Amino acid sequence: MHELAICQSLINQVESIALQHRAKSVSLIVVGIGPLSGVEAQLLKNAYPIASAGSVAENTELVIEYLPVKIKCNNCGCESDALPNKLVCKQCGNWQTSLVSGDELLLMSVELEKEDALEDSSTNTNTH
Ligand SMILES: [Zn+2]
Repeated sequence: MHELAICQSLINQVESIALQHRAKSVSLIVVGIGPLSGVEAQLLKNAYPIASAGSVAENTELVIEYLPVKIKCNNCGCESDALPNKLVCKQCGNWQTSLVSGDELLLMSVELEKEDALEDSSTNTNTH
């Protein structure tokens, strides 16, 4: 299962970010998927609970954003947005274009829940 492996590598990234910031948990993960990445958003969502089980990102809300497809024309050099199934230069109509973006899968943002160390430790010592 392709998406499970992708999910696990995303969670690895999230875990190292959470560790760097000493976060106790992760409240939101935003992932950007290019339409040409070959990744199905729904399959990624389905794989998420399995991949995140036991990690800091367990039960975290996963938001998926679709990234635009961008191409650069080999003829006139113009960069334009394109449909995933129609990579044609908007400027001159040339089919010979290079993909600038649209095939990537990115961890776009992570919202961390931090432990307020000073506040928490003082309340704990008072209550115990
Ligand atoms: Zn062109």
